[in-house]
Order: sequence, then C-alpha cells, then structure tokens
Amino acid sequence: MAKFIFITGGVVSSLGKGLASASIGALLQARGYTVRVRKLDPYLNVDPGTMSPYEHGEVFVTDDGAETDLDLGHYERFTGVAAKQSDNVTSGRIYSQVLARERRGAYLGGTVQVIPHVTDGIKKFATDDLDGEDFVLCEIGGTVGDIESLPFLEAIRQLRNDLGERQTMFVHLTLVPYLAAAGELKTKPTQHSVKELQGVGIRPDIIICRCEREIPDGHRLKIAQLCNIRSEAVIQGLDVDTIYQVPLDYHAQKVDEIVLEHFDLPAGKAPDLGKWHTIVNRLREPEGTVNIVVAGKYTDHADAYKSLAEALTHGGIANNVRVKAHWVGSEQFENNRDFKIFEDADGILVPGGFGERGSEGKIAVAQYAREKNLPYFGICFGMQMAVIEVARHLAGIEGAGSTEFGACEDPIVGLLTEWRRGADIETRQADDDKGGTMRLGAYPAQIGVGTLLAGIYGEDNLCERHRHRYEVNIDYRERLEAVGLKFSALSPDGTLPEVVELEGHPWFIGVQYHPELKSKPFDPHPLFMSFVAAALNQSRLV
Ligand code: GLN
Repeated sequence: MAKFIFITGGVVSSLGKGLASASIGALLQARGYTVRVRKLDPYLNVDPGTMSPYEHGEVFVTDDGAETDLDLGHYERFTGVAAKQSDNVTSGRIYSQVLARERRGAYLGGTVQVIPHVTDGIKKFATDDLDGEDFVLCEIGGTVGDIESLPFLEAIRQLRNDLGERQTMFVHLTLVPYLAAAGELKTKPTQHSVKELQGVGIRPDIIICRCEREIPDGHRLKIAQLCNIRSEAVIQGLDVDTIYQVPLDYHAQKVDEIVLEHFDLPAGKAPDLGKWHTIVNRLREPEGTVNIVVAGKYTDHADAYKSLAEALTHGGIANNVRVKAHWVGSEQFENNRDFKIFEDADGILVPGGFGERGSEGKIAVAQYAREKNLPYFGICFGMQMAVIEVARHLAGIEGAGSTEFGACEDPIVGLLTEWRRGADIETRQADDDKGGTMRLGAYPAQIGVGTLLAGIYGEDNLCERHRHRYEVNIDYRERLEAVGLKFSALSPDGTLPEVVELEGHPWFIGVQYHPELKSKPFDPHPLFMSFVAAALNQSRLV
C-alpha cells in the first residue's frame, strides 16, 4: 500500500509548492523508494487546456495526451517519472463526473452533495491508478482558506482518518516575510495559516517556510511551539539561485529523514545526491554563455514557457554553458523591421503559440535567421511560421498562409481533420469543442535517413508529445523540398510532416511537436543539446 504525502500551501500563492513536492519526491527516490507525484487543482475548468497562458502559465502535455498543470513538468523533470492523465485533476473534472453519474441515475435517488460525493471523487483520484509506488505525493493547488480548496482539504483529512497516521503525512508551505521597516522576519502569517488548516482538522507534520532571509533558530522554535510541531520539522525554504538546489537544501535539513521516520521506514545510508551537485555546479560555473532570443507571444509571463526555459537550461548544462534567454514579443517585428536585438543573438527560437497576433512577426524572424545563417529552432507554431516563410520567400508561393487565421490562397498550414492514433483514426471538425480536442500526446514519427535530425537523435524513429490543431500540408512537400526545406521526419503513414530542416543552413529546424516537454536536467533533450551547441559555434564565429 502506497504512503501518501499531501502538500498544501498557505498565506500567498506562488510559493513553489510544485517544486517542493518534486524535491521531496526526488529525495525519496534518492533513498531508493519509488514515487508518483500528483496535482489536485481546485478550480472549475475541467483541465487547464483552454486556459490562457497569461492566466495559468504553460499547459504541460503528457504522453497519454492529457493537458495538465505546469507543476507536472516540475515533477517529471525532478523525478524522471512520466506524468499521466491520472496525475492531475481539477474540481471541474470531479464535478463533471459526479454530475454525469447523477444524470445516469447512479445515485439511486439520493441527494448529491459535496460531502461525500465530491470528496469521495477526490479520494478516489488520489488513491486510484497506482503502480505499486512506495509514495504518492499529492499537491493541493490554491491556498488554504480559499473556498474552492475546502472539499480537497476535507478529502485529505478523511484519508488520514481512513488510512492512518503512519500511512499519511501533511506538509504545509507558508511564507515568512521580511519586513524591511521593522527589520524583522514575521512568523504571524504562518501561525494564521496553520490555524486555518487546523480549523479543518489538519495538523501539518512538516512546515516549509519560504523566506528571503535565513530564519533564526528562535523563530523556528516559535513556529514549532505555536503550530504544535517539532522544531526539526520547521524547514527553511530560502530563495535559491537555481531550482535544482532545492532538493539539496531540503536534504541538508533532513527532510527525507523526517519523512521516513514519520512512516516508520528505514532511512538506510545517506542518499547519493552527486548528480544534483553536478548540475548545480555546472549552472553556477559555466564555461561560457550563449544568447538565445525567444520570439513568442506570451513572453512577459514567466510561467508561460516554463518547460522551454528549462529545456534551454538543460541544453546549456549539456554544453557546459549558460544559456541566456532573451524573451521578446514577436509582434514588434511586424511593421518596424528593427532586428537590432538579434545582433548579439547566437540563436533564435520561435516557440509554440496560437492565433494570428504576432504571426507575421514570427515569419519575419524566421526569415532573418534563415538569411543571416543564425541557428533557428521553430517549435510547433514556430515550425509552421518558418514553413510559411520559406514557401513565400524561397518557393515563391506568395499566398502561403495558415487556415488558423482564416481562409487563404495557399494553405501551407491547414486544419488537421483526420489522423491515425495507433490502430484508430481520430477525426475533427472546425466547429468542435475547444477543450481536449487537439492532436495531443505522444505520437511516433520516422526520421529520414541522412538528415541532420537523424544525427541529432541517433535513431530512425522518434516519439514526442504534440499539442496542435493545424499541420503543415504534405501536398506542398515537393515544392518546398525543391528549394531545400527537407521534410526530415513524417508520421509513420507518411501523411503528417513532423520535422523540417533547411539544407545549406548551419542549423534551421522546425518541429511540429514539443521536445521541451521531455527534456530533463539529467537527460537533456537531444534537440536542445544540438541547438545550444550550434549557438555556441555561432558565438565563436563573431
Ligand atoms: N496554433 C498552432 C496549431 O494549433 C500551433 C500550436 C502550438 O504551437 N502548440 O497547430
């Protein structure tokens, strides 16, 4: 039977519960235990797939095609365990299941209520679809005290009662702010947050205090006494220069030992955290820097391209350089073609995106990279725009466009209406529901022999995660290949272009999928390694 660790947060949002959960998971793994990390989100959207990246940050896509919260990306990067649909749930999904059951008459005339029906749904989610893991870590989204969080807190309270104290553990993250005017760290918000949690019947076993300054022992003691826990279990979550330092900081404060002791499990010998030290050292002392300009749409929102930012960092780790990403909005390149910002760039990346706004800017950026021989990496939308660019300016297809922006003369990129998923055919119409209807999740592709891509992957096949509704039109293949834009990977049935690369250019690759979703610090994605290496070469040229 798995042991459950529930992670809640108080005082303010954005404390980094996701990273805390991922870090505890990673430490337990380092102790030889298997883990699964899950996220329970209290909002009413059925999944984050239809939410704006401004609102909710990146949508993380799993192999099995779920559109999930970005915290699942942290879990996967820290633990290496591939996230699944069954690792993320929202109130919206639980309610829609309960209401669908009610409509089917499954409650046999009973009154349907938050307790027990919604709470049972939450408990079932937390405990279902496991694979014999030793630990299941469940992060509860939102902040204690939110109305939406209540059924989740009630469900985890009940789980402790159902499973017992030695099968469950509560970890609570709070904030210990520093008040400059008073020159002091304040523990009161933590006390209030824990009181609120205790009001719903949950006493934390560990409190992690996020802070900008060291918490003196006296303050830790005070928190321990007033919150009714041992002082060793008051952990300091000091701001860090790299997120990969967090497991090391927790280990230094014996978090892993405290967890194992709570569950009456042998701590064994100290875990080997050498690989964490190695990446942290590499990040702190790189041998050089490469500058990558990322021309996107949601570039002023730090979380909107979370996995991409991490994957670039991983590419840097692999090449022992610091990757400095410069995030710019592509719209600025539409009317005024001022490309000064690219003068110091060693590579250009155009990431995924949706909608017409800024698309002409991306096309202009792709043209710049092509003409200046600057490494260009187009991801999903960034690939589609690069193909349109080559079609218009090299192949002379002036009316080239994407039907995502309305009808066009030459639909180089068009709506995907039918594709193969294993033995099945998936079909879509233009007026389908928006949620969960894209081509989502892992799909295989065949890599062309002798391509740059084949050298990068070192294999004949790839399998990557997708999230798109439009697709490069295979009918234009001949005309595009004739001007050097090679279709270097296709879906196994040969109908869907998955990767394009430009012959005669040092590094110009567009991929229809999202390689950033599978990159990990200990296993950087080959495309990011190769792109950063190409950027490094470029930096040596100037
Ligand atoms: N908007 C494009 C599509 O739906 C690209 C999607 C993306 O970049 N994720 O195909």
